Amino acid sequence: MANYIQRPKGTQDVVPSQSYKWHTVERIVAETAEQFGFREIRIPTFEETGLFVRSVGDTTDVVQKEMYTVSSTGDSTFTLRPEGTAGTIRAILENGILNEGFPQRAYYILSCFRHENVQKGRLREFHQFGCEMVGAADPAADADIIALVKSILDRVGLKNIRLDINSIGCPKCRGEYHKALKAFFEDRKDELCETCHERLERNPMRILDCKVEDCKKIAADAPVILDYLCDDCKSHFEGLQENLRVMGIDFVINPHTVRGLDYYTRTVFEFVTTDLGAQGVVCGGGRYDGLISSLGGPQTPALGFAMGLERLILTMEKQGCEFMEPKGCDIYFVSMGSNAQKKAMELTAKFREEGYYVQYDIVGRGLKPQMKYADKIGAKFVMVLGDSELETGKAKFKNMQTGEQTEVSLDDSILESFGEIYYTMLLDTDEDFRDFVDSFAEDDFELGN
Ligand code: ATP
Ligand code: MG
Repeated sequence: MANYIQRPKGTQDVVPSQSYKWHTVERIVAETAEQFGFREIRIPTFEETGLFVRSVGDTTDVVQKEMYTVSSTGDSTFTLRPEGTAGTIRAILENGILNEGFPQRAYYILSCFRHENVQKGRLREFHQFGCEMVGAADPAADADIIALVKSILDRVGLKNIRLDINSIGCPKCRGEYHKALKAFFEDRKDELCETCHERLERNPMRILDCKVEDCKKIAADAPVILDYLCDDCKSHFEGLQENLRVMGIDFVINPHTVRGLDYYTRTVFEFVTTDLGAQGVVCGGGRYDGLISSLGGPQTPALGFAMGLERLILTMEKQGCEFMEPKGCDIYFVSMGSNAQKKAMELTAKFREEGYYVQYDIVGRGLKPQMKYADKIGAKFVMVLGDSELETGKAKFKNMQTGEQTEVSLDDSILESFGEIYYTMLLDTDEDFRDFVDSFAEDDFELGN
């Protein structure tokens, strides 16, 4: 191993040649969220530790084992956010956004930090895209949020994704259920893991979310919350199912879906892929009607979800989904000698101002290596500038794909000349562009009628 400092375990570098994958998903999630009425919120990377303890819940794995907490020189302790909901709700309360009318919708794309056992799709720094909707109790809101996720997964092109839904009731129905769960697990206590022993005392529902195989097996036979729902929760859950059917969204009722955070009430849901093994939950969310009041705000129903972007990209790669390729180099100005390099610089500035992606030699390569480099970066056109071109005031644009050369004057007409060459190339090679141009032609025709 090389002798320089390595990145911390569980973190990732996105190198320049790969960042277009991130740009693809970031663009799709943001545009879709905006189409559903969400606007972006940006919150701090760290918060007072108490915020997460109170919201995520002190019996959760996240709070008990996974938080990166730092003491500052003052009295407060801070924690790097393990998720985005707590900070978002804090910000909504702190900025008085609840006074701006209902419902409020916010989305975010942010890094999260959890001290986890690192595996594929399970990192210590990872990224979530998430949405929170505040002030909507009706199951129409739950369906709308789910429809947003579905729409994103469709747009990125994911296949073989299952939507699991469940209701985990409200504090009213959960009392009886906790008793039943406790009795069930009490009988099998010896077979449960260490952590689950403690969960049994403090919050038996957490056992259902344990990742240990033996615990999972036992939990499979545990009583299910659906049998304990109060009438209100039951009809809310039925309402959600009805709405999903109306929107044509397939789902599976999975009574074992409980989610890893304490603040959920009623609806919980997960979008699961079988392509990532135990890390198959690409997106998880649900309703958290009690969270805002527990953070000192007014009793306000709310819901949301978070999508793991590393898991999304991994699944997309695995399934061969398409990513938006970045725009390639339009022109490379090859220059021989310092006068020619100055001309290349001048032309580069001119063409960049016009919006083209342009490069020229800045490391002093010879003619051949410059051509090679232009080829390597996929330049669509190359122009060679040397003494004779400067003298005659004429030079050639070479289409690198066809080899075709077109001579142009190196004066003010050059932009216009190149525009024509470029347009012809697009018509020849770019199907989308041709369709785009055709669509105008059809419009004209209709107008002409
Ligand atoms: P899991 O059950 O896989 O541990 P979770 O219940 O802890 O997930 P949430 O807290 O609901 O997950 O976070 C929402 C989403 O964020 C998850 O569905 C997943 O896609 C992603 N995610 C969570 N933890 C990690 C992690 N350590 N590394 C990468 N992605 C993660
Ligand atoms: Mg987890």
